[in-house]
Amino acid sequence: MEGDELLVPLSALEHWSYCHRQCGLIHLENLWSESGRTMEGRVLHEKVDLPGLEQRPGLRIARALELRSDTHRLGGRADVVVFFDDPDYPSTGRPFPVEYKRSSRNTFLHAELQLCGQGICLESMLGVPVPSGAIYYGASRRRREVAFTGKLRGDTLKAAGEILQMLESQRTPPAEPGAKCEECSLRDHCLPELPGPAGLGSYLEGMS
Ligand code: SF4
Repeated sequence: MEGDELLVPLSALEHWSYCHRQCGLIHLENLWSESGRTMEGRVLHEKVDLPGLEQRPGLRIARALELRSDTHRLGGRADVVVFFDDPDYPSTGRPFPVEYKRSSRNTFLHAELQLCGQGICLESMLGVPVPSGAIYYGASRRRREVAFTGKLRGDTLKAAGEILQMLESQRTPPAEPGAKCEECSLRDHCLPELPGPAGLGSYLEGMS
């Protein structure tokens, strides 16, 4: 049944883009580890995590808005969606999603996919074009606009398809050891320095 179909969490798009294994650890194995960085990010999100609608001249601001696209098997929550008054879309306004992040360090490309996924969901739900959105960085209080280009949409839907395959297979991807592991809050769960199944024999031999 359509409403009961497995949906790819919008937040998983960012995790998958950063590291496939991190995405599996969080979304398949329900692992999460609070670090200084994630705690600051969580505190920032708590400010926009209460659902609500605010009316201002020329626009409405929706917070913690639930989104989904059954067509693209995506679902989740947008921190903020601004609906600008627009005579071309009198009933809905022109939606503009804004995703909150702690800082731009190592996150920009990954967060773009999550934001674009929100735009794709809004288009599916409201039937109006969503050509762009923005990422707001709490540390610098700067906002960066992101155009939902054909390439970004393609990358987002490709990632969503791959995540769906992972969720359906129930298999967490292998580690991808690299510099990004130093920043990863799940490093202690992942143990990226351990070899995968193919190298396990020689690793154990080396211990004896
Ligand atoms: S420690 Fe490295 S390989 Fe493991 S989940 Fe984090 S980034 Fe991925």
